[in-house]
Amino acid sequence: MRFIDFQPTPLGCNYANRMATRKKKVRIPIPQPLAALVLFASDRSCCVCQSKGKPIQIHHMDDDPSNNEFHNLAVLCLDCHDLTQITGGFGRKLDQEQVKLYRDHWISLVADSRKSREVNIGDSQDAQLQLELVTSLAEIDLEKGDLVALASLYDEIGNIELRDKYIEKAIADGVPDDTHCYLRASLQGRPDLIPAEVASKVRETLTVGPSASKTQLARHLLDMGDPTHALKCYLEGILESLESGNEFSAGFYLNEVFEKDIVQALFLRSLGKFREEGDLWWEIRTLEELHWQDELKITIQANRKKIEESGNPFLRKYLAQADDDKGGYLQTRKEIERAEVRMTDPETGVSYIGYDFPDNDQ
Ligand SMILES: [Zn+2]
Repeated sequence: MRFIDFQPTPLGCNYANRMATRKKKVRIPIPQPLAALVLFASDRSCCVCQSKGKPIQIHHMDDDPSNNEFHNLAVLCLDCHDLTQITGGFGRKLDQEQVKLYRDHWISLVADSRKSREVNIGDSQDAQLQLELVTSLAEIDLEKGDLVALASLYDEIGNIELRDKYIEKAIADGVPDDTHCYLRASLQGRPDLIPAEVASKVRETLTVGPSASKTQLARHLLDMGDPTHALKCYLEGILESLESGNEFSAGFYLNEVFEKDIVQALFLRSLGKFREEGDLWWEIRTLEELHWQDELKITIQANRKKIEESGNPFLRKYLAQADDDKGGYLQTRKEIERAEVRMTDPETGVSYIGYDFPDNDQ
């Protein structure tokens, strides 16, 4: 049986390039802004022992003091740094791979803990302030006779009843087509209530003519329940921003792609498709990408017979994990490692990982 990994890994390309251009190790001081960034990302703490307050230094993971790339720099305390310098003897050297693992893990921990400390005024737990804010904003909107703003405001605070009351009122009074779509699809989540001609007019206006906008079209498509085309438009809009040098706009819409959970929407669609096709492998991979651990475990165990009969070591590895069968897990990992073959496409020179398993048809 032969499986080809679905993600070809171009091995060695970067390494070879670097070796070709690198003759002598010359120490180049790390520019101040980069050093500041590295220290901030690591919270000025050693990424290996994570101790606070120890003297630290910035370490070049590949031992090349001229390679001042962010991804090559790790904050280490002097003790841990010494461990990277062991040559011979019985001490266990802290090698580049290990430092990289520690560093990536620590950086993500620091980032997570910063995120959880962030305070957002909009989500303020201060109920009194919240109430005062909503009441005064609603008053202003009422004075202006802005029913759309009122509906948005009530949507924001989760008052569905008042939201829907003002949506009906606004639509009865007459609103532009794009606003109609916004109220029904974006606020109410009911694109099915939008008359077909209204939806198609909005789509056309955002596609061609002076009001055409990739990112506005993306929002509209997403509201209308089409995440696949929405993402395509978002990416086209982001590309346009990058090409015209508008990095803020590119970052802004990229943030929106993640905030609106488009990635999850894509995986949900994939999940439905793979389930319909009865494709267990991709169903499992999709559940994994969704981080649905319980669902993953249930699916794997429900397909026990199918997995055992398939002889597929990757599936058996999942089964062992789901069963918490440590021996089985170790066994399949070894099997996979043994079968792993590094191959190079003779025409393109691109390397990838393939698997060559002994046939299992007993
Ligand atoms: Zn340390």
